[in-house]
Amino acid sequence: MKVCFETFGCRLNRAEALQQEANYIAAGWELTEKHDDADLVIVRGCSVTEKAQTDCERLIAHIRRKYPSLRVKVEGCLIDSTNRKRKEEKIDPVQEFEKTAVPTRTARGFLKVQDGCSRRCAYCIIPSFRGASTSIAFNDVIDNAKKLRDQGGYEEIVMTGCNLSLYASDGKTLPDLIDALSSLGSFRLRLGSIEPGGKAQEVIRAMAANENVCRSLHLSIQSGSNAILSAMRRPYLLRDVDALADEVVSLMPNCSLGCDIITGFPGETEIDFLATSSLLKRHPFTNAHIFPFSPRPGTSAAMMMPQLPRAIKSQRAKELAKISARHRATAIESFIGKVVEVIVEDEKPPSGWTSEYFWCTLKTAARGMFPRKKLCKMKVIGSTKGKLEAVHADT
Ligand code: SF4
Repeated sequence: MKVCFETFGCRLNRAEALQQEANYIAAGWELTEKHDDADLVIVRGCSVTEKAQTDCERLIAHIRRKYPSLRVKVEGCLIDSTNRKRKEEKIDPVQEFEKTAVPTRTARGFLKVQDGCSRRCAYCIIPSFRGASTSIAFNDVIDNAKKLRDQGGYEEIVMTGCNLSLYASDGKTLPDLIDALSSLGSFRLRLGSIEPGGKAQEVIRAMAANENVCRSLHLSIQSGSNAILSAMRRPYLLRDVDALADEVVSLMPNCSLGCDIITGFPGETEIDFLATSSLLKRHPFTNAHIFPFSPRPGTSAAMMMPQLPRAIKSQRAKELAKISARHRATAIESFIGKVVEVIVEDEKPPSGWTSEYFWCTLKTAARGMFPRKKLCKMKVIGSTKGKLEAVHADT
């Protein structure tokens, strides 16, 4: 039997898809990328934006039209609009392999530690799919990390969750988990995004205290205006974001900062927008993900007034992207001449992610091995289109 996975959206959805793949393989199935070769297609969908949902639904409709007798399962953050199959296919026939099957296919390991979210941000549809926050038991997370290291052969492990900041198990929280996972050794740990406020400062202190935690941090900020943050029902204020970004730069000067920002949230004035752009200017956000507001059905923000025209939302997004690109260009300059440690994702030519989450490619002929999944040292000599170019570290 052959199964084909179509996975959309965030790292959490991808981590779950990779575990499911491993379960199916352990159950004796084969993976295929071709729909016409599959006995089952699993679509792990995403509805975080209107476009994401439409892309998923278009693919499902296409598969069902072209292969009417093919089994299609819809999972992740997407409702199966036909609804006829959803109830029947609830139980995963290979769930029993979850405990033993270890994903090995990707170059980096993905470690799910948390799911769902107990917040109710005004624009967010995720809790309606994933429910309230749940955390994987502390010792199970440690065991799963050991499996990814020992059986998966991973030298970089990425922590994923729906809202990592809400991790709580056996009296332990995210900073404790960072310390415990870092002490396992033989791999470097990368964090998924966290939100300002709450335990965020303890999280970055735990990162700073552990050399093998990647020097990249992504903050889900959404806006630089307190008025908009409060309308979004976000659990922090601008001063929390400023304090956090300043502390990251002082504790880990080489740590790259990323962020999520929504432009054109209902009621966002020019002054609110200027507050957001000045926030991005005063901190080195080299990797800003900017999303024009997308009203999601069933969220309170979808009913809020005034809804801004699409043109204003995307124009503001473009302006913020330019600010982040300037920070990125400055950061890239600072890498020239430095030796970086790259997790090799592609072998031809050897390329992958640095600890600071910059893509780096070896530009000279590979002398010796740069095997996929392994951490390798390279010396940065330049860049092209925001990506680093390197030679052998001993050159
Ligand atoms: S914290 Fe994140 S996942 Fe939770 S409701 Fe807000 S935006 Fe959605």
